[in-house]
Amino acid sequence: MRFDEALPGADPGGESRLKNILVTGGAGFLGSHLCDLMVSRGHRVFCVDNFHTGSRRNVSRLEATKKFWMVDHDVRQGLPEELPRFDEIYNLACPASPKHYQSDPVRTAMVNAMGAWNVLQRAEADGARVFHASTSEVYGDPEVHPQPESYCGNVNPVGPRACYDEGKRFAETLFMDFAKTRGITVRMVRIFNTYGPRMRADDGRVVSNFVIQALRNEPLTVYGDGSQTRSFCYVSDLIMGLDLLMHSGSEAAGPMNLGNPAEVPVHDLAEMVIDMVGSRSRIVRLPLPIDDPKRRRPDISRAVELLGWKPKVALEQGLEKTIAYFDATMAESGSAPSKTAVIARSGGHLSELAP
Ligand code: NAD
Ligand code: UDP
Repeated sequence: MRFDEALPGADPGGESRLKNILVTGGAGFLGSHLCDLMVSRGHRVFCVDNFHTGSRRNVSRLEATKKFWMVDHDVRQGLPEELPRFDEIYNLACPASPKHYQSDPVRTAMVNAMGAWNVLQRAEADGARVFHASTSEVYGDPEVHPQPESYCGNVNPVGPRACYDEGKRFAETLFMDFAKTRGITVRMVRIFNTYGPRMRADDGRVVSNFVIQALRNEPLTVYGDGSQTRSFCYVSDLIMGLDLLMHSGSEAAGPMNLGNPAEVPVHDLAEMVIDMVGSRSRIVRLPLPIDDPKRRRPDISRAVELLGWKPKVALEQGLEKTIAYFDATMAESGSAPSKTAVIARSGGHLSELAP
């Protein structure tokens, strides 16, 4: 690990100057797109990630620049001493897919708790503005629909999703209490199901599962009767919203929903993917996981009003890009023919992928 020449310390001055930025979980799906954006602006970006669910491939293009440093490190262990002073910190480290976060629930809960604690201590010491990636899962299986930020949620604290849901809820509490009592500036997003290029093939979330199954002409695995709904946001929309939120004024403090309010039953998503891929796949039913939320749709009034943000990419457009990405990466790994190998070579960079 080399952090290059002497790096200047934080200077909480103007917004246009170059900054030292820390992204935890920066080698993951969302984190790597965020790192792309920050490096493209000329900032010095330090990515702390232990590759639990992330991948070096997601950031390999950035590693070739002199603006990006990859630090293989577990956020539960504190943050490495030798890092420079930061202007901005983005806390994204945490497995996000139910398959991965439930595989070791104690670890998931502790990544949320210890990760938040370590990031916040660092933000306080550096005088850095800090961003936290929370989740629509704080609403659990919601009884209020759509979900506004004022809804306190319906979470089973001892169910299989609790390590993630309660971990994220605890982290929100810690971020808010640091802001209230220690004077640091915190921005916090509740992310609703976001999809796109750079999801892992074995991620286990519904969009990547369905797209890969359809490309392989294998059965699409709908859990339950497929009537449960989700609202899917394309990654470029989410990253734009996240950037606006981080650089917003104090009126945007407190949790903010970001997501696409277009709500779709999971069964309809399966049919849409089969149709778009032109696949021979059929649909099979598997048991609905315990505590699987029945409905989910963000109320984004707060983001519209305070950030002037709303998603631009319709599900069909986003799926087209995602299908092309998986088709190309599968071809590259020799597991399927491809019409779009160029996208795999680009590493799924949003500048090439955003509609
Ligand atoms: P992801 O699994 O692709 O990324 C998570 C990253 O965190 C990975 O690179 C992983 O290696 C890293 N990580 C995990 N444990 C770590 C540890 N102990 N130390 C260092 N790094 C660690 O998931 P994602 O979809 O990119 O999600 C990023 C963040 O956004 C997560 O905090 C997630 O909870 C949140 N979020 C995402 C969504 C979504 O729909 N994508 C929805 C809600 C919330
Ligand atoms: N799902 C499904 N088949 C799959 C993966 C997921 O039917 O192969 C369902 C899952 O039960 C849930 C929805 O799709 O109702 C979204 O699941 P995902 O894991 O993507 O995210 P969640 O919102 O549940 O965290």
